[in-house]
Amino acid sequence: MLICPNCGKTLIREEKRCRCADGHSFDIAAQGYVNLLIKHSANPGDDSGSIASRDAFLKKGYYQPLAEAIRETVNENMSAGQSFLDAGCGTGYYLSFLKDLPLESYATDIAKKAVARCAKANPQAFCFVGNVFHLPFEDHSLDGLMSVFTPYSAQEFARVMRPAGHLIAVTPGREHLYQLKEIAYDNPYYNEETGYQLEDFRLISQKNVRYEIHLKTSEDIGNLWRMMPYYHTTSRQGNERLLAMNEADTTVDFLLQLFERKNENEQD
Ligand SMILES: [Zn+2]
Repeated sequence: MLICPNCGKTLIREEKRCRCADGHSFDIAAQGYVNLLIKHSANPGDDSGSIASRDAFLKKGYYQPLAEAIRETVNENMSAGQSFLDAGCGTGYYLSFLKDLPLESYATDIAKKAVARCAKANPQAFCFVGNVFHLPFEDHSLDGLMSVFTPYSAQEFARVMRPAGHLIAVTPGREHLYQLKEIAYDNPYYNEETGYQLEDFRLISQKNVRYEIHLKTSEDIGNLWRMMPYYHTTSRQGNERLLAMNEADTTVDFLLQLFERKNENEQD
């Protein structure tokens, strides 16, 4: 299932490390995760400030209905003992809602500090620092995968998932944070709702999880806004206008898609 990121041989999990038959060895950190990135750059992925603000925002429960919708989809489509990867797990908020499902869970993210938080919140999962574009899994070895608000690789997901395996993707819906955009932008616009484009998968279902939230503090508004790519594309005045607010109401809108991996020779 898990393979060595150096040589591709089976990775054996021991108490304090993972190792392959060729002697490549990866220590399990005290926080319970392992770093399986081959090239260690200083701090890839999110910086610790944005990880902390994301964690703080998610813990307030504003996105709990989304987490529950993900849980329902996983519960309906996965069976006991199946393998399941959270690819781009961040701090593991969504994964923590799957804690009591009897799955063999894995979680990965390129940001080490996020994985450390994920491991703490998800002792049921094997958490590792990794790259979703080069996953350390054997071909067609995963039964399920989720990718929530994170970069994805259609090719790599097709490689690691077995035929008929299920993939859950979450992307921003058309109306996501529209009322905040009205404050920050001179010309607010709706998101283009494209979802995932996955050649080797069949779309089974998709739905919008859409509801209103009341952001209670300026800090919550700031933490949410900074989680989004919008923050970096908004004018300074626009960001300041929004971050000066003490509370705000907005729609949140998520596109939740369920895909099934096609058979190798299937043309659709
Ligand atoms: Zn190896």
